[in-house]
Amino acid sequence: MLPLVAIVGRPNVGKSTLFNALTRTRDALVHDEPGVTRDRHYGVCRPEGQREFAVVDTGGIAGEDEGLVGATARQARAAAAEADLVLFIVDGREGASALDDEILAWLRRAARPTMLVVNKTEGRDSQAALNEFSRYGIGDGIAISSAHRQGIDDLIDEVIARL
Ligand code: GDP
Ligand code: MG
Repeated sequence: MLPLVAIVGRPNVGKSTLFNALTRTRDALVHDEPGVTRDRHYGVCRPEGQREFAVVDTGGIAGEDEGLVGATARQARAAAAEADLVLFIVDGREGASALDDEILAWLRRAARPTMLVVNKTEGRDSQAALNEFSRYGIGDGIAISSAHRQGIDDLIDEVIARL
């Protein structure tokens, strides 16, 4: 079995965009599980000449509908709990939010190896973007722009180093 990397974060931080950048696909495998209202999307990252790993794109942690919130949160938690590494994605443009704090709190409880990924940092100083989240105290993060494919190769190297 391939090691599993879970992409976790609040809605709109760019989880799916990162998933697509890592798996280089737009039509990810959809993994249906009975009893859940949202599918989990699995794919494989196949970096040239490097170790392959599986990636799961989790739903957001919150949404408009209360029922959906519960279901997607459970999904994200389940995905994180079984992952070898969790990529905790935050929005480098908006900065830290209360929802990010909440997600981090349950990630800590899940006690899986977690790596901070600050997305949407195109056109910004990477270190400055990372500094805004340093109070999270989860070690060195990495600044990327999923939409512009910046930092993705470095992210892949870092992921492989931690698996
Ligand atoms: P998700 O809800 O976390 O899965 O987020 P999505 O991947 O659907 O992205 C939410 C929005 O952010 C979309 O409009 C994306 O195009 C945009 N987005 C994703 N990555 C980046 C990025 O690196 N930079 C910028 N500026 N926008 C991004
Ligand atoms: Mg998404």
